Amino acid sequence: MSKIVIITGVSGQDGSLMADYLIKNTDYKIYGIMRRCAKPDYSNIKHLFGSDRFFTEVADLSDSQSIDNIVRNLKPDYFINFAAQSFVGSSWQIPEQTFDVGAVGVLRCLEAIRKHAPNCRFYNAGSSEEFGDVVYSPQNEKHPMRPQSPYGAAKVAARQLVRVYRESYGLYAVQGYLFNHEGVRRGEEFITRKISKAVARIKKAWDIGDSFEPLELGNLNSKRDWSDAEDFVEGVWMMLNQDISNKRLIENYYSSRATTKELEVQKNIGYEEWYQRYWASNAKEYVLSSNETHTVREFVELAFGFAGIKGIWFNLTGKPEDEEYILSDDGVLATKKKVTLVKINPKFYRPAEVSLLWGDSSLARAELGWKPKTTFPQLVQKMVENDLKS
Ligand code: NDP
Ligand code: GDP
Repeated sequence: MSKIVIITGVSGQDGSLMADYLIKNTDYKIYGIMRRCAKPDYSNIKHLFGSDRFFTEVADLSDSQSIDNIVRNLKPDYFINFAAQSFVGSSWQIPEQTFDVGAVGVLRCLEAIRKHAPNCRFYNAGSSEEFGDVVYSPQNEKHPMRPQSPYGAAKVAARQLVRVYRESYGLYAVQGYLFNHEGVRRGEEFITRKISKAVARIKKAWDIGDSFEPLELGNLNSKRDWSDAEDFVEGVWMMLNQDISNKRLIENYYSSRATTKELEVQKNIGYEEWYQRYWASNAKEYVLSSNETHTVREFVELAFGFAGIKGIWFNLTGKPEDEEYILSDDGVLATKKKVTLVKINPKFYRPAEVSLLWGDSSLARAELGWKPKTTFPQLVQKMVENDLKS
């Protein structure tokens, strides 16, 4: 019988990419969870509606009944939780909702799995924002949790809940540490998509001689480890299948620790049940990252560059809020009048900033065999070209 995968947040970037990945690479049935919404946005998943392996269900992470019902009815083999209020910036405006969905919502999923599908493998979407005010770079799995926002704090709370359920009940429950990942389905308030959309808007106006409003940004110096979300959903799937991805782990166990009694049990109950009993509570949580860090400023330069627009940073006063990116031709003004492409709006500064994120995913690379395929410039190019086309 075909296995069943529940994906929450399926209308978002990661959920929809995970659905695509599983439709392509497995024969499993995918149940995408969407919350009730006056005007649902199916744009990321409408191409899947013809598939006889893709279904949508209504549930809400803030409603335990709906989560419990879905898990009880479907008895899934995998539950991948991507649902969250995912924008750090908004987490100061709606802190309680962010925490409820990001932390208590995870508890609701874990409880439903514990009661109705204890062999189900659970993934929760963790974040490099949990490292927050970082104490060393690059950050690996051992870095302390020092969140700087209600969003980051919710993810840290969720991580503890996932660990407690893994250790208390032997659930296969993990929460990866995912650094920023982007793409053509990225929400428009995130910096990468905000830039790629604005570059396309400005390029179109410039080409036909129209005037345009500059792009307004906050902290240009903040550094992020940006990757392609398509590479990350593959890494998440590998984390959920460590017995397949990390064969060495199992082989070492067999050669050094597996007792004859255990092997006998395995023969009787089958591999999956055996794995659940002996390995689920040992499942590991990995960092996924590109292992590079870049400033917002670099993203701006590359993005305008891929649209064929040259700019130069310009600041008459030296105050950060007066900095501008202006049209330039090899260091000189391209037009008689100054043309501003980017300016600062302090409205986009955050009450507390995570100024540097830089991942070290060597463990996932060594043990899972995972590696990102898309480079930073390729990611920027892909996003700009997509927005220029649309
Ligand atoms: P998106 O914002 O694109 O998707 C989030 C999804 O969650 C949306 O489909 C949204 O639905 C849904 N959702 C929100 N609240 C609820 C709720 N109460 N009940 C059910 N569904 C809900 O985020 P991403 O795809 O980028 O991220 C996926 C996950 O990974 C998130 O948990 C995020 O915090 C985490 N993450 C993302 C990183 C990144 O760089 N992308 C980095 C690290 C972690 P709706 O459309 O109705 O709002
Ligand atoms: P985050 O890492 O999950 O917070 O992802 P974002 O894409 O929202 O932000 C990345 C970084 O860009 C943060 O350090 C922001 O402060 C910085 N940034 C600077 N200007 C902006 C802006 O206008 N919008 C957003 N979203 N971020 C900005």
